[in-house]
Amino acid sequence: MKAIDLPSLPPISRYSQLVGEGRIRELEELADSLKGLKLQEINSARYGGGVAETLSSYVSFVRMLGIDIEWCVMEAKPDFFKTTKTLHNFLQGKEGFSLEMLETYWKFQKENRELIERDCDVVTIHDPQPLGLIEFLPDETRKRQKIVWRCHVHLETIPLERMKQIEKLMRGMVERYDAAIFSTFQFLPIWKVLSFVIPPFIDPLSEKNRELASQDIDRILTKYGISIEKPLITQVSRFDVFKDPLGVIEAFKLVRQKHPCQLLLAGGGAIDDPEYQQVLSDVRKAAEDDKDIYILDLPPDSHKEINAFQRASTIILQKSIKEGFGLTVTEGLWKGKPVVAGRVGGITLQIKDGWNGFLISTVQETAEKILYLLKHPRKAEEMGKKGKEFVTEHFLIDRGVKDHLTALYQLVKGRIVSKNTIVSYHPWF
Ligand code: UDP
Repeated sequence: MKAIDLPSLPPISRYSQLVGEGRIRELEELADSLKGLKLQEINSARYGGGVAETLSSYVSFVRMLGIDIEWCVMEAKPDFFKTTKTLHNFLQGKEGFSLEMLETYWKFQKENRELIERDCDVVTIHDPQPLGLIEFLPDETRKRQKIVWRCHVHLETIPLERMKQIEKLMRGMVERYDAAIFSTFQFLPIWKVLSFVIPPFIDPLSEKNRELASQDIDRILTKYGISIEKPLITQVSRFDVFKDPLGVIEAFKLVRQKHPCQLLLAGGGAIDDPEYQQVLSDVRKAAEDDKDIYILDLPPDSHKEINAFQRASTIILQKSIKEGFGLTVTEGLWKGKPVVAGRVGGITLQIKDGWNGFLISTVQETAEKILYLLKHPRKAEEMGKKGKEFVTEHFLIDRGVKDHLTALYQLVKGRIVSKNTIVSYHPWF
């Protein structure tokens, strides 16, 4: 299987300028203690969505620290991705998954069974798509390697009767892993697996997040025909029902009755998300050719464009009804914008309601908070400033990499013996 090549990052001194030399020095010392190990990351999509976004920064950064790491992606056909998207939705509480679908799931696990590199010391498998690969490892490899499952899904505690069999199956697989990583305590299942709680992070110097010159922002807005004569409210997301783009349009229409503004829904798809065309078409229908609503179906590498849209916005919206973490929230906060976002999942780690943004549940509430921010620009600016400070302290790449490498260190050096242990380096989250 082919490992993914990634562009190199800016020098580490640029990160020190942002987060302080002390933070980076500690990280380099930790990385030194792991040199010589070989790491591998496996997921199901090279582009599109938060997992691919995080992996491309994480793998490049870990390499820059001098550790040998590879990123490999499963190869599969659309029927596999249809199955796994249904499973993903099911784990987030939406009906539709049936046990018959497991046949397709196992077919592609088997086809990808060589993906785990036998000579790697620690392999991290992301999300349910490649979870079953562990079943195909020969015993002697299994004994030598540490295998970790990284869950990015908004995993509901699974009490429902109809989910019992799926829970049993997933639990059986996850308990074979040496450890699991969850984004927040909220998603910890009651399974016997050594569990780490590590929130995700963004790379502040990536194309998506670095500073942009105002001419660059203007050029991109002009290219997409977006004027900022009226305040711009933006939601960046894959077109997915759990991101509630239809609710976004409803809320926007309520706000516009009271204040001039425009809406940008910028998104795209991912190879492992076959539903996006349908959602996009529903969104276009709901927008009804409204001149104040821009709907952009972007290619997967539109990082600079998204950066420009977020920076040009007055308010960032993320009206999710389920959310593993919500990197788009982190990206908005990092750009000093007030963020209005769903009171769900990992979003609640990032937004302290009324301090650096607003948490909302309903369309009505969303409209009220947007309107409040439009009418109180000084308050909006203050919130944006606090948001940027909060992200600098908690959600930048050096913190994320440090947490992951610390977890791997503890795992490899055998510092944790019980499967019933939960480890968090930031228990206040
Ligand atoms: N994203 C992107 N292009 C798109 C839609 C999203 O590059 O068309 C990026 C977005 O900027 C963010 C990530 O994909 O970095 C989405 O992560 P998030 O955790 O918000 O949601 P997920 O898609 O993983 O559910």
